[in-house]
Amino acid sequence: SPAAASPLLANLNPEQLAAVTLPEGNALILAGAGSGKTRVLTTRIAWLLQTGQVSPGGVLAVTFTNKAAKEMVTRLTAMLPINARGMWIGTFHGLCNRFLRAHWKLANLPSTFQILDTQDQLSAIKRLMKQFNVDDERFPAKQTQWFIAGAKEDGRRPRDVEVRSEEDRKKVEIYQLYEEQCQREGVVDFSELMLRSYELLRDNDVIREHYQRRFRHILIDEFQDTNRLQYAWIKMLSGVTVEGRFVPGGSSVIAVGDDDQSIYAFRGARVGNMADFVREFEVQRQIKLEQNYRSFSNILDSANALIGHNTKRLGKNLRTDQGPGEPVRVYESTSDFAEAQWMVEEMRQLVREGIDRKEIAVLYRSNAQSRVIETALFNAAVPYRVYGGLRFFERAEIKHALGYLRLLENKDDDTSFLRIVNFPPRGIGARSIELLQDAARAAGHSLHDAVSAVGGKAGANLSAFVAKIDVLREQTVGISLREIIELVLDHSGLIEHYKADREGADRVENLEELVNAAESFVTQEGFGRDAVALPVDELRQSPASQGLDPSRPMIDEALEPLAPDAETGETLSPLAAFLTHAALESGDNQAQAGQDAVQLMTVHAAKGLEFDCVFITGMEEGLFPHENSMSDHDGLEEERRLMYVAITRARQRLYMSHSQTRMLHGQTRYNLKSRFYDELPEAALKWLTPKNQGFAPSAFGYGGGYATSRGAGGGSGGSGYGGGFGKESFASPPVPPQKAAPSHGLRSGMQVFHNKFGEGTVLALEGGGDDARAQINFPRHGVKWLALSVAKLTPV
Ligand code: ATP
Ligand code: MG
Repeated sequence: SPAAASPLLANLNPEQLAAVTLPEGNALILAGAGSGKTRVLTTRIAWLLQTGQVSPGGVLAVTFTNKAAKEMVTRLTAMLPINARGMWIGTFHGLCNRFLRAHWKLANLPSTFQILDTQDQLSAIKRLMKQFNVDDERFPAKQTQWFIAGAKEDGRRPRDVEVRSEEDRKKVEIYQLYEEQCQREGVVDFSELMLRSYELLRDNDVIREHYQRRFRHILIDEFQDTNRLQYAWIKMLSGVTVEGRFVPGGSSVIAVGDDDQSIYAFRGARVGNMADFVREFEVQRQIKLEQNYRSFSNILDSANALIGHNTKRLGKNLRTDQGPGEPVRVYESTSDFAEAQWMVEEMRQLVREGIDRKEIAVLYRSNAQSRVIETALFNAAVPYRVYGGLRFFERAEIKHALGYLRLLENKDDDTSFLRIVNFPPRGIGARSIELLQDAARAAGHSLHDAVSAVGGKAGANLSAFVAKIDVLREQTVGISLREIIELVLDHSGLIEHYKADREGADRVENLEELVNAAESFVTQEGFGRDAVALPVDELRQSPASQGLDPSRPMIDEALEPLAPDAETGETLSPLAAFLTHAALESGDNQAQAGQDAVQLMTVHAAKGLEFDCVFITGMEEGLFPHENSMSDHDGLEEERRLMYVAITRARQRLYMSHSQTRMLHGQTRYNLKSRFYDELPEAALKWLTPKNQGFAPSAFGYGGGYATSRGAGGGSGGSGYGGGFGKESFASPPVPPQKAAPSHGLRSGMQVFHNKFGEGTVLALEGGGDDARAQINFPRHGVKWLALSVAKLTPV
């Protein structure tokens, strides 16, 4: 058996072993969370390499995040002494970027094309819409952005979009103009990376056949979250279409996924790709993994019970041999602030018990929830790291610095030009910029090239700015990336600007961190592993030099020359490579890298990861499940899958918490606790606070009555504390509250009497008129928020 010889294969269960050692051919591995899917995928690559069935250049593996890709490379290099650079392991975006870097000419891109992140894309769209006088009330820029991304992810160029209304026609027109603008400026957005490389594969037989021969083994993790275009891209790499019908080709494609963890439908993911894959790739082998190695059974039982409430499932089982472990702890707090305080205390206890901080994760449904938690952690001096959210490379000061760098690299990058032309302020006003934009449009030039066409004082200021950039560009010739960045920070005036700002200290620190980021990019990453076209030499390395058994024949056609334009050996400058890295990588690792820090992230960002201890916060109706998804069945099922992902991140300890009140988007919300609690097995839970504490419906205006009447309270609606669904319902509750006297006459610190809760002390007051509410500490019932238009309070 293949297992006998290789220590790689020790410790795999029989199903895992079968998956790792699958013979050639397409296969689907369908299995629940923590069953070893990712581990199987990594081990299979190692096994294929070790047994000489493929060389590193013949493997293409797609992961969902950069972090996952790095981890896979790390694990592989630990298992085998190979040169990981030859392997194509990365995210869809990372791999497409690499592909386009190698074939930029055929892809009709400048060799130094830069990537627009989501923020840049939005500002590029706004700029364009302004320029063409598009009504942004009728066509909000954000919606336009979604429309364009959606079209691209369906593989549609403007001419392919079906136009059914005047509205559609306008949108398509904007899409068309946006494409022209990007092309002129030499920039591509994320979906463009995918679409462009898909089209190149589709339209260029030589390139397609080359890569089809080259990638003998294609492996895709988290397959349930692939979108239409990604699936089409994989098909392009692994088969041909004959008379309109797809015929799988010579490569073996292994898709690994879990339908219960499909959580990106809102971004175009198609769980239906799994069924299509089985059919179109004529999959003969499907493997299910049912043993969970991650979590104790209280955690796993909770996950299983919860997801059992979904109706649309392919159906899988998960069991664990680990014992029950600790119960899942549930906590109710009075406010989001108190929730964060409690969490910090609990974390301190965990750390005292010997848990590493980086093994503690706080998960939330919405990014906006992190602020309160961050504040509490910061005040308690607990090191923490936020994943996602505002990434390092997305911070304003960093974007400004990158703007200068990008303009040095590509003078036609108008987005960058506009970002920094008057930052730090140098007296170039909106009117001057408008004049410049008009001149540029008239002449068909970039903003940079059009400054000489603007006269007067405005023209002089603009020319001075462009001269400054051009001088900087000359000065960067022949110096290191670190020196380039230092030069730009000094001469742009950015550092000086933030130093003069009383609250700019953090920003100065971040800018200095950018120098470190560049430094570690150059040294650790061998700069731009992803960004640089693969040197052909690397593919010609002998098996022996890659730590493989030289006596085995290499079944690999990667030794053929690459397509002509990849052979020129042209690589990016370190600066261009770094800018690509900044756009593609989250940059999470920059600040506080290497620290033992608590991990904060959204549930979406936690997919595929695992931690000893997990806190799921904000378990409230309207938040989790999210209010946007609660009204329809499919939306609710996706929320439940998201909850399933959250629960299954935990190895040992799981906490869930909710709060009676929460400040979100500048509004106090009074939420019911999440219906998901009612879907968990009572035996696995331990309530740290009394289970049904909270407002009695009669005490609160938009109380249980409202919640129950919408049926939104799930099993606990009637007995739970009441609450609206945030802003909208607060503004216009369906049951009009009785009019209260305009002045309630309460002050904080005052003693009041409530005929149900007895005597209490007013802690805080908020809002006015019908919206007035008070936070009151009732010694016998705890702290509560009451709506004064409804609650009967008498001063004592
Ligand atoms: P997810 O669905 O969350 O992505 P997964 O199915 O990819 O999970 P892995 O992350 O590969 O699961 O594995 C979960 C954990 O179980 C990892 O810590 C992994 O090392 C461990 N594991 C997997 N298989 C085994 C095994 N046969 N023996 C011991 N540990 C295992
Ligand atoms: Mg995984």
